[in-house]
Amino acid sequence: MKIAVLSGKGGTGKTTVTSNFAVNIKNSISIDSDVEEPNLHIFMDMENPTFKPVYTLYPSINKELCTLCGKCGDFCNYNAIIPAKNQVIVFRESCHDCGGCKLVCPNGAITYEKREIGKIFNGRSKYDTELHYGLLNIGEMSGVKIIDQLKIFTDSDETVTFIDSPPGTSCATVAAVEGTDYAVIVSEPTPFGVSDMKMVVEMLRQMKIPFGLIINKAGLGDNEIYRYCKDENIEILGEIPFDKKIAELYAHGEIFSVSIPKYKDLFNNIYKKIVEGSRSL
Ligand code: SF4
Ligand code: SF4
Repeated sequence: MKIAVLSGKGGTGKTTVTSNFAVNIKNSISIDSDVEEPNLHIFMDMENPTFKPVYTLYPSINKELCTLCGKCGDFCNYNAIIPAKNQVIVFRESCHDCGGCKLVCPNGAITYEKREIGKIFNGRSKYDTELHYGLLNIGEMSGVKIIDQLKIFTDSDETVTFIDSPPGTSCATVAAVEGTDYAVIVSEPTPFGVSDMKMVVEMLRQMKIPFGLIINKAGLGDNEIYRYCKDENIEILGEIPFDKKIAELYAHGEIFSVSIPKYKDLFNNIYKKIVEGSRSL
């Protein structure tokens, strides 16, 4: 089973929730696909990871064969290849590696070269769980390719995989959530929290992925989130209380249900609800 953990914006507790699931649900795999700012491995204390680079391709033009016909530029949706007066200019960082320009070039003038856009790290946490995360190189625009490669590690049917997803509703979030069996939205009970999660709810409904909500810092704000969930028929899976001790543990990079065992049941019960809910679909 693949479970995505996501939120309307960063800093609402996605990684807190993912790490608490990871240490409490037996034999689970966790993946941090928030490749611009991965931090799950810090909370999970990843030990001696191995890594491999992730590459993307970009076009290279054979000037001998190019007639400057302009077809590649017309095709590219990202303005990554622009036939100018005397040469074709390629903006490597804008290229999304779709392969289309080579297909439309009538003269076979385009080949592709590769460049590294980031890395994938693989290993185990100090809690003896399997953990993978991606890291996008600074200045790169899209981590989708890294996320797609990370999701290879979700392919086992015998385990549950928790995917800490990028915040919001970007292409990277869609890539992380696509193909998952269930999504857990994490939100704070404030007007901003409710407003941010509405887009995520819309996205998940369009993607036809079942979902529920974990309220983080429950007790902090007002009742709007409860009203919204009732009106929209969204299941509240559980609530993490607004607790100074939890905040302190987070600030020290610690997983709160490890230090405060009474919260183990919270995550085990939420997981049970997800599994039971999925069976009844
Ligand atoms: S591979 Fe696709 S995105 Fe890249 S330059 Fe060619 S058409 Fe544009
Ligand atoms: S489609 Fe091929 S021949 Fe035409 S401008 Fe692009 S690279 Fe040159």
